[in-house]
Amino acid sequence: MIIRLDPALSTSQLSHIHQTLKDIHHTAHDVQTQSTHYLVCMGKMPADLRRIGLLPGVADVHAVADAYQLVSSKWKTARTQIDLGDGVKIGGGHFAIMAGTCSIENEEQIVQTIAHLKAQDIRIMRGGVFKPRSSPYTFRGLGLEGLQLFYQHCKAAGIKIITEVMQPAQVAQMHDYVDIFQVGARNTQNFNLLAELGQQHKAVLIKRGMSGTIEELLQSAEYVFSGGNENIMLCERGIRTFEPAYRNTFDINAIPLLKEKSHLPVIADPSHGTGIRRMVPQIALAAAIAGADGILYETHPEPEKALSDGHQSLSHEESAQLVARLQALLPFCNPA
Ligand code: PEP
Ligand code: MN
Repeated sequence: MIIRLDPALSTSQLSHIHQTLKDIHHTAHDVQTQSTHYLVCMGKMPADLRRIGLLPGVADVHAVADAYQLVSSKWKTARTQIDLGDGVKIGGGHFAIMAGTCSIENEEQIVQTIAHLKAQDIRIMRGGVFKPRSSPYTFRGLGLEGLQLFYQHCKAAGIKIITEVMQPAQVAQMHDYVDIFQVGARNTQNFNLLAELGQQHKAVLIKRGMSGTIEELLQSAEYVFSGGNENIMLCERGIRTFEPAYRNTFDINAIPLLKEKSHLPVIADPSHGTGIRRMVPQIALAAAIAGADGILYETHPEPEKALSDGHQSLSHEESAQLVARLQALLPFCNPA
């Protein structure tokens, strides 16, 4: 059960509500987000919603029986929209394109990528500076210095930044330089990281785990929301299956299902979802048709020279073609 509290709630009203919940053997978790104060309640017996709804200080009350509550569409029917400022919005009817290199490699590559994004009217650039790599001997990113360089150029160009954060201690270091914290597939269930991101106001994109279920992804989002941050996006990036013909199996089913189960924006990552450059545009378009609120993909000025994931990065020419095809398709999609 979710209780949304009145913004003008007094402390005595709050303690009366807590006492009432205690009396009916419900445990209540206080969640104070950017915009609202909630009580997430768990109890063995269903509560009398009408009685709770009449308590002074209660704005409204909803029955939600899922393991995830705050991210569920069962209580919030309006779709969440993320507002990054400067007219950059994600979800709730705004289809977002986020593109860029897998890793931030050097200044020239940042400049070239920004020029490409500007020409396509893409407002959000991706690029990892802390890279989770299977081998410790491969390029693992430029770290904080790389992020500062990334930030300087994006700020001057009016481009927003999405980049991966791997551990709780990096959140504060990275905070001022990012617009969206990306939680990678290897960290979907890094609960300490999710809890830390719950304390922030910045947007968070959570990728589905390598072998993660839809329910696990939603519960990861619940960690962030229940920590106090409502600005969350879910991302389907393919799952590991028995099929070795491509890097991952992009689970297109996940898109309409996540949109049904949750009010959060759903983003598709066709680059990691396929691992094969020539398949990226088709899967990006399929995701838009399936109802995605945006796509996150890799594009590189010279994919064959990329320090990571060049095999799945589009050239700028291919990226421009994809954007044109998407623009033509979007009027026929229904991302809201
Ligand atoms: C990435 O976006 O470059 C990345 C590492 O993605 P994932 O966590 O989905 O593997
Ligand atoms: Mn990558």
